Amino acid sequence: VSTWANVPQGPPDAILGVTEAFKKDTDPRKMNLGVGAYRDDSGKPYVLSSVRKAEELILSKLLDKEYLGITGLPSFSQAAGILAYGEDNAVIKDGKLVIAQSISGTGALRIGGAFLERFYPYGKKIYLPNPTWGNHIPIFKDSGLQVERYRYFDPKTNGLDVAGFMEDIKNAPKNSIFLLHACAHNPTGVDPTQAQWNEISSAIKERDHFAFFDMAYQGFASGDSQRDAYAVRKFVADGHRICLSQSFAKNMGLYGERIGAFSIVTDSTKEKATVESQVKIVIRPMYSNPPLTGARIVSEVLNTPALKDEWLREVKVMADRIITMRDKLRGHLENDFKSKLPWNHITDQIGMFCFSGLSPAQVEAIQNDWHVYLTKDGRISMAGISSGNVKYLAEAIHNVTK
Ligand code: PMP
Repeated sequence: VSTWANVPQGPPDAILGVTEAFKKDTDPRKMNLGVGAYRDDSGKPYVLSSVRKAEELILSKLLDKEYLGITGLPSFSQAAGILAYGEDNAVIKDGKLVIAQSISGTGALRIGGAFLERFYPYGKKIYLPNPTWGNHIPIFKDSGLQVERYRYFDPKTNGLDVAGFMEDIKNAPKNSIFLLHACAHNPTGVDPTQAQWNEISSAIKERDHFAFFDMAYQGFASGDSQRDAYAVRKFVADGHRICLSQSFAKNMGLYGERIGAFSIVTDSTKEKATVESQVKIVIRPMYSNPPLTGARIVSEVLNTPALKDEWLREVKVMADRIITMRDKLRGHLENDFKSKLPWNHITDQIGMFCFSGLSPAQVEAIQNDWHVYLTKDGRISMAGISSGNVKYLAEAIHNVTK
């Protein structure tokens, strides 16, 4: 009998499965609204001009290909830290921030999970929002943490279940770990307001919980990377010693370069040194040290003032295009197709995704009858919509929901 005879067939990935079905469809009107990757208004993948220029600069320097240190390229991680926490943040100025380059956001979450599993001195329960990005669950389970959920989304309003969220913070055992989406919550597109973040910060403080922020969309939510960092900075200002995952996949369009950062706020420079030494020991047996190219690109963009300005403008263009598509989609549903259903959530929600409220049966119908592909939970990747097909999408949604 073969060694692997007892390996059971695993289920296909929920999101990548949508793309496979899309590829097989030969209808010219087909739309892929599954995968969370930005497309320009003609539906094409988009490489930022600031990134292209950074690549040319890097190429012209004829740099070597030596190994990076375990925590990566220092000029990258310094700039990443400043982008997230802010130029004048005391945790950076006073040398209390441990920050390591990571294999994009996923890798940062995995380092964080492994570090908490090893060193977090209290119960190893991590509370994730319901719903959350599907990969959060296996990432933290595989890290050895116990995954719990907190209430987040209210299907009745397609908005935040703020009462449920606050109750779950209060009822979780003291010193629990709470995973928070810093902005542009995936999959719902529903973020707390700044006033709600202030309350959430106090409630988490009251129960001595630990906040782990996942910031995969800084700049992508509002178009303003300072504004999108509000929650992270507010928590730090309130005295939380947070940890943070950052990704440059979306906001710099560097998906396949796999570039991100993991950071922890510590109490002192002495504590920074001990924590950093252990973060290195977590990383070393996983992949030894991170890759060069993405870190060089981000470093060049963030550390070259003209490129940074250009990048900030480009992030805003991407965010604005998505916001425009939200307006148009809602407008067509309400004005052209006279839908009687409420569609305000399309424009209330923010970031890459719209949690449409389509039921699994409606998702199936829109796929079979209209060649529109999205995940079963009704999540629409707004970036896959363009001015050429937004009206068609509205017609399709109207027809499967009327
Ligand atoms: N967190 C969230 C909430 C995400 O949506 C994503 C990307 N889909 C990630 C983390 C990580 O993505 P990446 O590993 O490509 O940076």
